[in-house]
Amino acid sequence: MTGALLEEGVLDAGLEDREARRELAKLFDRNFLELASEADEIRRRLHPNDIVTYIVDRNINYTNVCWVACSFCAFYRTKRQAQKGDGYVLTVEQVLQKIQETVDLGGTGILMQGGLHPDIGMEYITDLLRTIRKEYPQIQVHALSPAEIWHLVDKSGMSLDETLKELKNAGLMSIPGGGAEILTDETRGRIAPAKNSADTWLEVMESWHSLGMKSTATMMFGIDESYEERVEHLLQIRNLQAKTGGFTAFIDWTFQPDNTTYRKKHPDFEKASSLDYLKTTAISRIILDNVSNIQASWVTQPMKTASIALHAGCNDMGSIMIEENVVKEAGARYCTTEQELRNVIEHSGFMPVKRTTLYDRALEPGISVKDI
Ligand code: SF4
Repeated sequence: MTGALLEEGVLDAGLEDREARRELAKLFDRNFLELASEADEIRRRLHPNDIVTYIVDRNINYTNVCWVACSFCAFYRTKRQAQKGDGYVLTVEQVLQKIQETVDLGGTGILMQGGLHPDIGMEYITDLLRTIRKEYPQIQVHALSPAEIWHLVDKSGMSLDETLKELKNAGLMSIPGGGAEILTDETRGRIAPAKNSADTWLEVMESWHSLGMKSTATMMFGIDESYEERVEHLLQIRNLQAKTGGFTAFIDWTFQPDNTTYRKKHPDFEKASSLDYLKTTAISRIILDNVSNIQASWVTQPMKTASIALHAGCNDMGSIMIEENVVKEAGARYCTTEQELRNVIEHSGFMPVKRTTLYDRALEPGISVKDI
């Protein structure tokens, strides 16, 4: 439990008690170095060996066609745009080819997500999952955010539970926390009114965890939400983690506005600063002291900012991102190699260790998962 910066019990009261949330939101007024110091103390307690992990995997976006039209998304194309040739749906063979390239580069997992294509349902997805499991049993498949899963529920007419069980049987191993954005209906209604609610994002995660499965949790912030809403988001994740223990990691990043409807509607909008990113990440580490791993976002931040984040609570550098399409469309242009990631980790004072998607294996000689 955190000490110096928070009153005892304020974290546990926060979800129900608005006053406690306001108290927690005052953390954003604190000096960054104070926040980083407390976050680093929690990181050291959870990961005493000064190891920073990373993964070699690839994002595969099976389609860019989506009916949801989130105002912050530059990736999607409508069905009409698709009919004019601007959309795609990958074939099973194309997905397998991308996985082979990933394996050739030493990759151990894929993060597979797509738009909510009006014509894609369980058949396409389960066929894809089964084929991947058959052809690449060594690859860990981290796929389908809660919004995609609700789309499959709607298309199939099955219950959420039945849908999740079928996906699990087909080879889904872990669910990414994408689409959480800010888990308050106020912000969701403002930036993505057609998307599933905060409660239904949490419902998917809770149901998936109840099957004994793991997922990640995320937060995309810096889209004119209040600090109190960021705190509410973090408390929702903390609360669910206390119930299920199913989150392997938390990843936060800043909204990337280029080429989005949000930017068009708000021409004077200014992106969250690196300092805001670092403070928010440190506060995430402090509030989420029951989630083992916090990833530094070098995809939406310069690498030097991610390097500082390792001293502000983060113990993981995420993926080398052999392929990334979503935030690239919105103006994030950072990319890296495995060697560069290892160098950054070492120069930041830590030992780099390659891991799997599920954080269940350390892929370095002489290092066990207990060490990380
Ligand atoms: S964020 Fe996801 S659900 Fe929203 S428009 Fe983009 S692809 Fe569709």
